[in-house]
Amino acid sequence: MSDRPNILFIMSDDHAAHAMSCYGSRINETPNLDRIANEGMRFNNCFCTNAICGPSRAAILTGTYNHINGMTTLGTKMDGRQLTFPKLLQNEGYQTGIVGKWHLGHGDVYDPTGFDYWNVLPGQGDYHNPTMTEMGEEKQYEGYVTDIITDLSLDWIKDRDEDRPFMLMYHHKAPHRWWEPDSKHADMYEDIDIPEPETFWDDYQNRASAAEAAKMRVDRDLSERDLKGPTPEGLTPEEEKKWKYQRYIKDYLRCVASVDDNVGRVLDYLDESGLAENTIVIYTSDQGFFLGDHGWDDKRFMYEESLRMPFIIRYPKEIEAGTVNDDMILNVDFAPTFLDYAGIDKPDTFQGSSFRPLLHSETPDGWQTGMYYRYWMHLAHHHVYAHYGIRTLKHKLIYYYADALGQTGAVDDTKEPEWELFDLEKDPQEMFNVYNDPAYADIIPQLKDEMHRLQDKVDDERYVKDVG
Ligand code: CA
Repeated sequence: MSDRPNILFIMSDDHAAHAMSCYGSRINETPNLDRIANEGMRFNNCFCTNAICGPSRAAILTGTYNHINGMTTLGTKMDGRQLTFPKLLQNEGYQTGIVGKWHLGHGDVYDPTGFDYWNVLPGQGDYHNPTMTEMGEEKQYEGYVTDIITDLSLDWIKDRDEDRPFMLMYHHKAPHRWWEPDSKHADMYEDIDIPEPETFWDDYQNRASAAEAAKMRVDRDLSERDLKGPTPEGLTPEEEKKWKYQRYIKDYLRCVASVDDNVGRVLDYLDESGLAENTIVIYTSDQGFFLGDHGWDDKRFMYEESLRMPFIIRYPKEIEAGTVNDDMILNVDFAPTFLDYAGIDKPDTFQGSSFRPLLHSETPDGWQTGMYYRYWMHLAHHHVYAHYGIRTLKHKLIYYYADALGQTGAVDDTKEPEWELFDLEKDPQEMFNVYNDPAYADIIPQLKDEMHRLQDKVDDERYVKDVG
């Protein structure tokens, strides 16, 4: 047996931290996911560099920002000839696999590379009786996608070469829209009302115009497919919004419950097989999600609910049980961290940093206290303006440059740029843009300088009108 740890990298799709009980959820329980946090470490400030599915996945695989890896929008794909952490692990003797969600393109140079085994959903894939592509060959499976991805992952772990370490990306489709639960959880929450979030009735005042312009409102923009049927007649607008929220959030949470059950099955197997001690188990999601927060149901914005990724990690050999970390880590830091554990030097092209020291509760001098974010997919799907910004431990500055810049998948309809500034200590829910408040006149130039420094550091280009 090798001393190098196995890595079980569990990721779901659109699972917000505030729908996990270990993060203090007010709306559900996730007892199996909580096991990872209780037996390991929970990160409270894990952020994605672009809050949308494929781009976040590309950032995780390559350790680079999207303008470097080329997957800026959902209209782009990830060129598999790039260096990724699975390739490096495979090259150094790890058995590598990916099962489930891929969403980075298919065929040509877009199929998974760097994996001894891959079996992935095409695009978003289906919840029921999904087709999957196993090593290039399409196969039809019967059953529920979360169960199937788990069964295939367990089969792969059981069939592995026990003399070499493994790295498995066990990646769920759930709880991505259209939120179709399995029969086991279909009636869950049927007789209760799920509490509405505090910002449910947000009217988008005191904000840049991007918030009001976005088309992701629970009361207006959820489709019959999202809601699994027509809205009842005779409701007041307020009643209708409440009804739609219950329909949406219950199905979302039912999909989460299946993920939780299935992760529990895998954790049980690791215990039974004696693998738990030498296996790093991670649970995360490609970004967060609005669970009715600000009256919304999607992601994309740099606002907290969508920016924050859940990140819990268990590795009994190195991580003290039940620990919590408030340092800032990013999706581009995952790849360098995995390489660190495998004893592989980080390539110069990787832009993130290993956070392994944080797992011993040691914060290295100069560890990041600010992060750079960029959403490129101007006006597509949910009409969110293209923006970039910086989040520090206390503030968030967002620049809606609102221009497609010729990006594939963005809509060419330029708007006037606007700034937003939030004081995260006084206004953690980001309801008041204080950009024009004289009390913040001193901090704004500092934040802009730091944002531009981070932008330069990762070789991105600032927007032509951003001369602040
Ligand atoms: Ca996603």
